[in-house]
Amino acid sequence: LDPNGFTNDSKMVIDFIADYYKNIEKNPVQSQVKPGYLMTQLPDTAPYCQESLEDVLKDVTESIIPGLTHWQSPNFFAYFQANASTAGFVGEMLCTGLNVVGFNWIASPAATELESIVMDWVGKMLKLPSTFLFSGNGGGVLHGSTCEAIVCTLVAARDETLRMIGAENITKLVVYASDQTHSTLLKGVKLVGIPTSNFRCLSTSFSSEFSLSPQALEDAIENDIKAGFVPLFLCATVGTTACGAVDPVMDLGKIARKYNLWFHIDAAYAGSACICPEFRHYLDGVELADSLSMNPHKWLLTNMDCCCLWVKQPRLLIESLSSDAEFLRNNASESNDVVDYKDWQIALSRRFRALKLWIVIRRHGLANLMCHIRSDVNLAKRFESLVAKDSRFEVVVRRRFSLVCFRLKHNDECQGLELNRKLLAAVNESGRAFMTHAVVGGLFIIRCAIGSTLTEERHVDDLWKLIQEKAADLVKETGA
Ligand code: PLP
Repeated sequence: LDPNGFTNDSKMVIDFIADYYKNIEKNPVQSQVKPGYLMTQLPDTAPYCQESLEDVLKDVTESIIPGLTHWQSPNFFAYFQANASTAGFVGEMLCTGLNVVGFNWIASPAATELESIVMDWVGKMLKLPSTFLFSGNGGGVLHGSTCEAIVCTLVAARDETLRMIGAENITKLVVYASDQTHSTLLKGVKLVGIPTSNFRCLSTSFSSEFSLSPQALEDAIENDIKAGFVPLFLCATVGTTACGAVDPVMDLGKIARKYNLWFHIDAAYAGSACICPEFRHYLDGVELADSLSMNPHKWLLTNMDCCCLWVKQPRLLIESLSSDAEFLRNNASESNDVVDYKDWQIALSRRFRALKLWIVIRRHGLANLMCHIRSDVNLAKRFESLVAKDSRFEVVVRRRFSLVCFRLKHNDECQGLELNRKLLAAVNESGRAFMTHAVVGGLFIIRCAIGSTLTEERHVDDLWKLIQEKAADLVKETGA
């Protein structure tokens, strides 16, 4: 890295990004390209000679930007948001610029120690019990995704139990969650070698607002024990992906403790909201859990990627995930006085994500982070009330955070599905907004997930006008 050329190139890219954000609304929110479009625009072999950054950025403008779905657009209401902020960007820049690989303490002591400090900070922001903090003999680690965090906790839980019952009994281990649980859990089950037929995907319904029933859980556990299975792992979700449902952490936690299950809480999206006192109650009972994960890269202004995982017993992660190749040996590790984060994750190498999260928290402060959450929630309330005022529509599931699930009403389930699918496609094809769908309780619903930092009231109002306009066209066209 040449410090002179680096400054010029970086300035050029920063100007490019600033222009991108200034003009972001001019792009169709969801990319409109067809599969394989890029092959027709770029050469099929790498250049032999170096090219100028100007030429590269020209191609980014002409070929790459059209193939992007603009997650930072104020008209992006799909999936869950991936918040970006200047602080997150600056943090990412520092992380990339310093480019250290802090797999163990000695490889970059500051990277490890800052991560432990920041994990305790965020833990305290969420009012986690001290047993999850380093200061209370627990601890936290930054992963790239919830998927990795869940695989690591599953492995730790699996190994702890197999040490007691014997590795040959892996086929008896059972994992429990609701049918609203993110698909990442089933993937994790497969990855850690537990038969997928031992994944108990417990049904939820409208009547329980899609939360996991403690009674259904206990019944399933009892049945499994009678049949000779070994209940291993329970995952509760605070803020499900499809509709933002919340599982009853306290009641589920009591069952987990009674049957000695590893209890994980997946708060990937809504965990960020729990920094606000008015949302913290969703985590009541967290003291009964063994681990908790949440993604600041979703809703806490931290650019991709950043997933926090806290565990009460780091020892169990380390026993399953440690690697001790000769070239990694050092006195600090052998003293057992340091954290070696390579033993808390799958990979050896790791990014200095803590720098980014630290800067996000310092540059905003807890007060502004809470304002950010509340502002998105208020925008969602605004959208919800617009939907509620139009008798052709209904809000399908109670809104708890910044996700509003709604649909055009229809008496016939199949026709209703088709109608809403067409409505969503019409909105997205317009390029003026982008939302996604889910199916809950057999109903096709449209999800409006509010959370781009550029979204203002006018964008929410425009989205609603667009939906009404497309709905009117559809009703005219189909006579529905
Ligand atoms: N869990 C929940 C509740 C989610 O909403 C998501 C993503 O939307 C995930 C897990 C997956 O997160 P990741 O992409 O970080 O693996």
